[in-house]
Amino acid sequence: MKILVLNAGSSSVKYQLINPEEAKVLAKGFVERIGLSGAVLTHQAFDKPEIKMTGEILDHKVAIEYVLTILLSKNHGVLKSKNEIDAVGHRVVHGGEAFSGSVLINEDVIREMTKCIDFAPLHNPPNLKGIAAAKALLPGVPQVGVFDTAFHQTMPKHSFIYGIPYTLYKRHVIRRYGFHGTSHRYVADHAAKFLKKSAEELKIITCHLGNGSSIAAVKHGKSIDTSMGFTPLEGLLMGTRCGDMDPAIILHVMAKEELTPSEMNTMLNKHSGVLGISGLSSDMREIEDNYESNDRARLAMDIFSYRIKKYIGAYAAAMGGVDVIVFTAGIGENSDMVRKLVCSDMEFLGIELDEQKNKETRKAEEIISKPSSKVKVMVIPTNEELVIAMDTAKIVQS
Ligand code: ADP
Repeated sequence: MKILVLNAGSSSVKYQLINPEEAKVLAKGFVERIGLSGAVLTHQAFDKPEIKMTGEILDHKVAIEYVLTILLSKNHGVLKSKNEIDAVGHRVVHGGEAFSGSVLINEDVIREMTKCIDFAPLHNPPNLKGIAAAKALLPGVPQVGVFDTAFHQTMPKHSFIYGIPYTLYKRHVIRRYGFHGTSHRYVADHAAKFLKKSAEELKIITCHLGNGSSIAAVKHGKSIDTSMGFTPLEGLLMGTRCGDMDPAIILHVMAKEELTPSEMNTMLNKHSGVLGISGLSSDMREIEDNYESNDRARLAMDIFSYRIKKYIGAYAAAMGGVDVIVFTAGIGENSDMVRKLVCSDMEFLGIELDEQKNKETRKAEEIISKPSSKVKVMVIPTNEELVIAMDTAKIVQS
C-alpha cells in the first residue's frame, strides 16, 4: 500500500509517502511560504539526494498539486501514476469531543471538524484546506483524519474539567483536550513492545519534549491525564510558550503594560518559555551550550527540567505508580542533560538512570536506566507520520 500523509499548516504543507506494511518512507518533503513570495518545495525520494524548487504557490491546492507532480516526476519521483496512492492520511490538530480515534473523512466529519475551528483557529482551517485540496486533486481516493486530541479522549472527567463554573463546560465545552496524542500513543506502544509487554499491563509516563512539549499519564494503554489543556499553552515550559502559571498574572500584566488580548496572546505563545526566561534562544542546544556560562540559560534549563520532574511525581500519584518513563521528540531524544536533570534524585520513586547509557543515547530506541532500576527509563524516537499512515491503512482496509 502507498499512503500519502499530509500535515497542512497556515503557510506550509509537510508530506510523506509511506508504505505502512514495511514502515518505509518512499518520499518526503515540505512546501513552505504558501501564499507568500518565494515559496519553496523541498523534496527527497527514498535513496536520492534532497532537491529544492521555488515557484508561485498561491494556496494549499497548488502546493499539493506541486507535491503530486514531483512524486510523479521522472527524475525525482517514486510513482508512475496517481492511482498508486491508495489513501491520504491527514494530521488534524483539534477533534474536540467528537473524535476519540481516526476516521474516514466524509461530509459529517468535515462538519464536526469545522465546529472545532473555534478551539484551534490557527490550525484547523489549514488542515481543512489540505483535505479539500486532496479531495479535489485525488477524487475517489479515501481520506482519513488523525487527530492530535483523540488519544486523550479517554481522560476521566476529574482530569479534564477546570475549576471554573461548570456551565462554561456545558455552554462552550471549555475543558482539557490535550495534544501530541499521536506521539504519546506511538511511544507508549513502542516502549511496551520493546519491553516485550503489552501497554495494557503498564503504567507509562510519556514525555514529548520538542518546541512544544507535553507529558501524559498512560495507564493500561489509555491516556488518563496530560499537561496540555484547552490549548497547547498549558503545562510544561516550552520553547516560546509559558506553560502553567497563575491566570491572574494575565489580567495584571495586561493592565500594567496596556496590552490588548491579541498582544497578550502573542506574549504567552511566542515570547515566553525558554526564550522568555533565558533572553537567549528557544533552542535547547543553545541553552545547553550556555548552561555553565550564562545564569539565565541555566535558569531556563532548570525550570524546564524541574517542571517535567514535578509532573512525573504527579502522574505517578495519579496512576498509583509508574513502570516506564519515555523521553521523545527533539529534546527528549537528544538531550542527555535534560534527561539527567529530570531523573536526578528520583531514586525514592525507583528511578535510577544509567549515566553512561544516557550520555550515549541519541535518536535510538534504548533503555537508559540501570538494570536495578524499578522504573525503566527509555528513549523512543517518535514517528507521527507512520502512525497516521498505519491508521489510514487500517481504516481503508476495514
Ligand atoms: P517540534 O515541536 O517543532 O516538532 P522537535 O521535536 O523537532 O520540535 O524539537 C525541537 C527541539 O529539539 C529544539 O528545541 C531543539 O533545540 C531540540 N534539539 C534538537 N536536537 C537537539 C540536541 N542534539 N540536543 C538538545 N536539543 C536538541
